[in-house]
Amino acid sequence: MKFIQTRGFDGTRAEKVTFSEAILSPIASFGGLYVPETLPNLGEEFLTKHLKSSYKELAADVLSRFEIDIDQSVIDEALSLYDSFDDASNPVPVIKVQENLFVSELYHGPTRAFKDMALQPFGKILSSVAQKKNENYLILAATSGDTGPAALETFKNQKNIQVVCMYPANGTSDVQRLQMVTEDASNLKVIGIKGNFDDAQSALKNLLSSESFEKTLNEKNISLSAANSVNFGRIIFQIVYHIHNYLELVRQNATKMGEKAYFNVPSGNFGNVLGAYYAMQMGLPVEKLVIASNNNNILTRLIQTGVYDMRDQELILTTSPAMDILKSSNVERVLFGLYGATRTRELMNDLDTKKIYTLTATELEKLQEIFVADFCSDEKGKEYIKSNFENGYLMDPHTATCFKAYESCCTKNIATVIYSTAEWTKFSPVIANALTGESDTKDITALESISKIASVKIPNMINELFSKKIVHNSVIEKESIEKEIIKFL
Ligand SMILES: *Cc1c(COP(=O)(O)O)cnc(C)c1O
Repeated sequence: MKFIQTRGFDGTRAEKVTFSEAILSPIASFGGLYVPETLPNLGEEFLTKHLKSSYKELAADVLSRFEIDIDQSVIDEALSLYDSFDDASNPVPVIKVQENLFVSELYHGPTRAFKDMALQPFGKILSSVAQKKNENYLILAATSGDTGPAALETFKNQKNIQVVCMYPANGTSDVQRLQMVTEDASNLKVIGIKGNFDDAQSALKNLLSSESFEKTLNEKNISLSAANSVNFGRIIFQIVYHIHNYLELVRQNATKMGEKAYFNVPSGNFGNVLGAYYAMQMGLPVEKLVIASNNNNILTRLIQTGVYDMRDQELILTTSPAMDILKSSNVERVLFGLYGATRTRELMNDLDTKKIYTLTATELEKLQEIFVADFCSDEKGKEYIKSNFENGYLMDPHTATCFKAYESCCTKNIATVIYSTAEWTKFSPVIANALTGESDTKDITALESISKIASVKIPNMINELFSKKIVHNSVIEKESIEKEIIKFL
């Protein structure tokens, strides 16, 4: 299958590219993104066939329908990474928490957040494509806390790939920071930037437009790639678990085959729910995709009013930082799917130049046939953490945002799947505060206190972090970043 471009084709590159090409250089003409030219149809027959399949068998079959230019042995090797999840036979448990309400836990991989679902297999595939072409790639990542650890974990010691990961020195939890600075491999460099996530991101932007940096990369024969969720190599793996979740509803007798369900996703850059959108276009019986946000509610407003408005918007720091976002990149792929390339280019141009775009009434209607949305404040989120805990279910603050949207949007009496994107261990101070009112900000104290009141064990990979050797010590001003990276390369 070939990949086409969301903003049309500017004549300077191929009009259609292969999967390998799309994942090595994910930015397309006019700053657009790559999308599959067609989607395979996976109707009821496909679903019925996989009722008894393992997660990996399902994944292999979904991938095979995309006919990507990756050797089967590489795909199999990539999928075998799910064997290292907590339960190799079921990497994504779907847990019933109330009548008709289920939670899909996407965090049972090595770094305890949903990013592992895609980055684990993606790392293997990207490295294999780079080796085959005999080319060297640099991945630059600015992280607010979950992408960094997952990218480092997947690319460590992978041939032909180097990773530089920048994190805000004042912006991550202790666990997230330790997951990065203790990651020991010669192809990885982790740099703390003095400031917040915006500072880390603007440091990355400056670097990408620096001529001297480009010259160094050329001299060293290194090309740039990207591991964020604009890369379709991540999205393809994020289609699989939505299908798996539907099959789980059928297996658990919550849904009859063919009957629709709600999928309720805590969203930031829209990569997770984009996988669900594609699954729905491929035939999965979805009633609505429910978009949950925090107080950065730009997606809620888009879906309720048809206006994407970034004018005079300041990013608000919340207790669900992975969803603190203004520009949500993957929305563009939905615009393309619904309105085509010409209109997408127009809308994205408006966003770049005027910081706002407005859908027509007909366009909004099309969007609302698929999506509904609501947002949840930090305070309300803490109430959901507490009430669910009292009902026997422990969850993190990102997952909690879905419960408000569940109440307001999932009005039909059918099953709903809420997506849990991080384990409680990654955001323990907020959870401890919600459960007991304590406001110690240290992760280690909060982890121990939750572990005690909830009678849950702190997983080894989290416990070990606190005694592991710190290998990446640099915390620098954003102005010195280029020098620091060139030294590493
Ligand atoms: C990345 C992330 C999200 C947001 O996912 P998108 O694909 O960017 O919408 C939500 N929760 C957690 C914990 C995450 O790490």
